[in-house]
Amino acid sequence: MSNRLIGKVIVITGSTQGIGKTIAHFCAKEGAYVVVNGRNSETGKAAAKEIETMYGTKAVFIHADVSTEAACRELIEKTIAYFGRIDGLVNNAGIFPRGTILETEEPDFDAIFAVNMKGAFFCSKYAIQEMLKTGGGSIVQIGSTNAYKGAKELVAYSCSKGAMLTLNRSIAAHYAKDGIRSNWVTVGWVASKGEIELHESMGISEAQLKERAKTAVPTGEMQTEEDIAHGVMYLLSDESKQVTGTELDINGGLGL
Ligand code: NAD
Repeated sequence: MSNRLIGKVIVITGSTQGIGKTIAHFCAKEGAYVVVNGRNSETGKAAAKEIETMYGTKAVFIHADVSTEAACRELIEKTIAYFGRIDGLVNNAGIFPRGTILETEEPDFDAIFAVNMKGAFFCSKYAIQEMLKTGGGSIVQIGSTNAYKGAKELVAYSCSKGAMLTLNRSIAAHYAKDGIRSNWVTVGWVASKGEIELHESMGISEAQLKERAKTAVPTGEMQTEEDIAHGVMYLLSDESKQVTGTELDINGGLGL
């Protein structure tokens, strides 16, 4: 890797832990100015400081719960106030409570759609507004194989990611002429902090989770956060300047 994002301002939603945090580190390593986002100011400020110390770039934490339009607008407005522009947005913030269609009730449905879909929609809206002024940018939607399969035990989550997939195609189709690209990464199965905690709450240890993945994932193992971040770097960088509306599967063949 070598400065593929030098001088670019990149916002990563939900980047105080998990896949988002690793993406934020990769962006900084590639020379970007980084906006770390999340809901916990203490963790977020520490995460931004760690990035500045490790990579010598500028990183700022912006507190925002991306489940409302107002918060998404504020996130982008504060980014502009701090850095003056936005070149990349990674819609990574996500929640994944489990439930079949028979078990899912409205509060859970609304919460899942508010973060996963509404958040991606309105962060994209305000980012596009700014990118139009500066000649373009790159948006990456962190998706899931469940968008295609509609997992029985994660049905509302799957539907929210399916809507995000449509958002990806819509932005790609309508803003390519403005230099704004949108691409989707199909994440397979990653032992992120959130995924480990979810399984532990069901009595499944991290070791058991990884053992299950050996049979479930065609490549025989889970993806790492770094596997996902490598693909995101390509999509944020100018190396992919002719790539838009694509769906990059980083899922060990899970979707096949
Ligand atoms: P994680 O729980 O470790 O991280 C999710 C992050 O999103 C956290 O930092 C959390 O604080 C943040 N977040 C949640 N709600 C938010 C809100 N309202 N506002 C701002 N931030 C918020 O989980 P992860 O596995 O790293 O998930 C990252 C993304 O990857 C999600 O979109 C998830 O759907 C997707 N994904 C993960 C897997 C997997 O196997 N881990 C598989 C497919 C897709």
